Amino acid sequence: MKRYDFIIAGGGMAGLSLAYYLTQSSLRHKSVLILDREPKNRNDRTWCFWEHRDAAGPFESIIFRQWETVTFHGTTYAGPLGMGAYQYKMLRGIDFYRFVLDELAKWPTIERKQVTIEQISDTPTGGQVKADGVIYEADYVFDSTFQLSLDDRKNHNLLQHFKGWIIEAEKPCFDPDKAEIMDFRIEQHGDCRFVYVLPFDEKTALIEFTLFNEQLLADDQYDRVLRHYVDQYLETGGYIIRETEFGIIPMSDVRTEEKPAKHIVRIGTSGGATKASTGYTFQRTQRYLREMVQNMAQSGTPFRQTGWFDHRFKLYDSIFLNVLEQHRHPADDVFTRVYVKNPERVFRFLDEDTHFLDELKLFTTMPWWPFTSAFFAVMRRKWFG
Ligand SMILES: Cc1cc2nc3c(=O)[nH]c(=O)nc-3n(C[C@H](O)[C@H](O)[C@H](O)COP(=O)(O)OP(=O)(O)OC[C@H]3O[C@@H](n4cnc5c(N)ncnc54)[C@H](O)[C@@H]3O)c2cc1C
Repeated sequence: MKRYDFIIAGGGMAGLSLAYYLTQSSLRHKSVLILDREPKNRNDRTWCFWEHRDAAGPFESIIFRQWETVTFHGTTYAGPLGMGAYQYKMLRGIDFYRFVLDELAKWPTIERKQVTIEQISDTPTGGQVKADGVIYEADYVFDSTFQLSLDDRKNHNLLQHFKGWIIEAEKPCFDPDKAEIMDFRIEQHGDCRFVYVLPFDEKTALIEFTLFNEQLLADDQYDRVLRHYVDQYLETGGYIIRETEFGIIPMSDVRTEEKPAKHIVRIGTSGGATKASTGYTFQRTQRYLREMVQNMAQSGTPFRQTGWFDHRFKLYDSIFLNVLEQHRHPADDVFTRVYVKNPERVFRFLDEDTHFLDELKLFTTMPWWPFTSAFFAVMRRKWFG
């Protein structure tokens, strides 16, 4: 049995990012095995995220589009949002896979195998992965294949589900300098439902219908809303659908162990990198992985240290999920307040980069009774189930 320094189980966004960061660190000569059942040669998703102008990440050269201005359509406000020094960016999956795989191909110490992983286990001397009947061993296994269990009623287990069309319009109808990140001018049906419009040029854009709730829709229901939105709000003069995208992201406060065993580390969505209240995962994964690689380079262990006070953000996420799940206040109004009354601060808050005083200021802009009731409901669930 061949032994590696590291096995990366699941070479998707998190797994490939980790391998990339290893090549950029003093650990670049370590032997690495990446296992994935897919070749990663399809544009299977698109990542959007905001980033500070002075802190561009390592994938800046392959950013597909970026916008200085984001706009919003809420209950009491429609117009641009204050982003401060943040920019909103879009990275296509295929560009990311190609870029990272090309970089990794330069390293003879990195091996990739297209296999199905059957089991991951800890042993006294390392982590083990069984894939297509073969056992591989390493000092550490980084696992992005672990499935979160989303059925415990103690947790809030919402889903963010979305369908998007990339459309090409007959007439120029988009402003390529502005990304509409949330447009609530669609029927809410008591949920949180919005459309976002990310223009590539004056005639082409990704139009995505997104819901935060517990129930998926039938496929034609997503299409119906998209069609209605385009007809009602965009002067396309006719259009064709170039590509479609469908996705589901867990919005759950289920506790997931980043360190389930001595030689196993969970990363990406499996490791809890998805922000429960928004579904955004890309930037948090990058941040966590950079910390892990830095720790390994300095101390030999990948595990990240988090202060007890940092856990307050998990509580905020749970409270927000409770407001949504229990329909304590219309979601379109919550988002209108949070974005419009907290320019720039809201992006730092969602990045978990705020100080407590900043957070208190943000909370005062929220409807106090729904959020206070949600706080007590979350506490009750945590203590009594
Ligand atoms: C369509 C879509 C759009 C998204 N858009 C955004 C966005 O705009 N912004 C954002 O921040 N987040 C977004 N997300 C959420 C999140 O960023 C992505 O899901 C991201 O890919 C998660 O990274 P990951 O490495 O945890 O999982 P993945 O990228 O899914 O990687 C896991 C890998 O493990 C492999 N695998 C799983 N099980 C096995 C097995 N048994 N054997 C072998 N291989 C296995 C899979 O093939 C996959 O390659 C989106 C998600 C989806 C689905």
